[in-house]
Amino acid sequence: MKISEKLKKQSRVFSFEFYPPKKEEDIPFLKKAVEELKTLSPDFVSITQSPTALSGLNFASLSSTLALSGVLKHEFSLEVMAHLTCVTLKNREMLDEAVKLLKIFGLENVLALRGDSAAVEFEKPIFSRACELARELKSRGAFDIAAACYPEKHPEAVSLEADIDNLKRKMDCGASFAITQLFLDNASYFSFREKCLARGVTIPIIPGIMPVTGLSQLTNFAERIKVKIPARLLAALEKLSPADAEGGPETKAAIRDFGIAYAAGQCRELLKNGAPGIHFYTLNRSKATSAVLNLVKKEIKGTANSI
Ligand code: FAD
Repeated sequence: MKISEKLKKQSRVFSFEFYPPKKEEDIPFLKKAVEELKTLSPDFVSITQSPTALSGLNFASLSSTLALSGVLKHEFSLEVMAHLTCVTLKNREMLDEAVKLLKIFGLENVLALRGDSAAVEFEKPIFSRACELARELKSRGAFDIAAACYPEKHPEAVSLEADIDNLKRKMDCGASFAITQLFLDNASYFSFREKCLARGVTIPIIPGIMPVTGLSQLTNFAERIKVKIPARLLAALEKLSPADAEGGPETKAAIRDFGIAYAAGQCRELLKNGAPGIHFYTLNRSKATSAVLNLVKKEIKGTANSI
């Protein structure tokens, strides 16, 4: 089923993002996470595509995403959105193959992305912008296209306004909804959504949330993707974290519990204020995400849909 149809029918959708395992040892973690998170009846799951997966081989990266997408759709009966990046599509043949595989696997939902430059660059990709890929996919068949967006601005964009114009271009090229980069301060999402509407971006914008499970994990991530860490979140995590190292099991559990409560608080406020759902960045683990979603779903039930 197309995700945009679910977004029209339901007041909110919940989804999980997974990545194809890079090593054989990673497969059991992914399998366990999928099995556990499936019990929460997600509306869809999405499968990333890494330009550096499997030793930087673009074709392998593409096929691992499509293969995992096919398995989750047909073996696990999950609705799947495959990520497809411009940087891995080096020629028309690869694009044709990707479209053919999407159709063979019955994958109707695609997140059209530019991706970041691959470690090994032999050939220039055929598209340099996500909107070009979105337009091409839209012209090739009955795909539902999603786009990425950045409430705190994409790091390369000259301004937030220019980046919102880019989201509008992606919508005009066929994207029927958008998923945000993760953010830790809901004010970023609310102000972004308002600015998007003012500039004519009318598609649903699903917030991307990642439960924090450690201070260094958070600071590394935030630095890499350039998102702000609210002072109160940083202060609370610093208070819980020992000065020298990661800490023992009790410290880890305290940080994890705090991260779960923080993410659940974010979700609660987002849903109360009209967010069309939540997309969870799971990092192929299930515990923190399922704890957050269980809390949120319990509240939805308890408040008879007041969220
Ligand atoms: P684009 O929309 O092409 O934008 C890239 C930059 O160019 C932006 O700064 C934009 O403002 C600017 N731009 C675009 N068009 C124009 C124009 N005409 N004029 C001026 N400026 C322009 N990466 C992966 O490799 N694999 C994944 O699976 C993956 N999944 C993701 C999922 C989500 C939900 C998100 C938010 C990101 C994901 N990414 C993934 C990261 C993404 O590929 C990078 O952030 C990438 O740098 C930008 O991709 P994009 O699709 O937003 O690019």
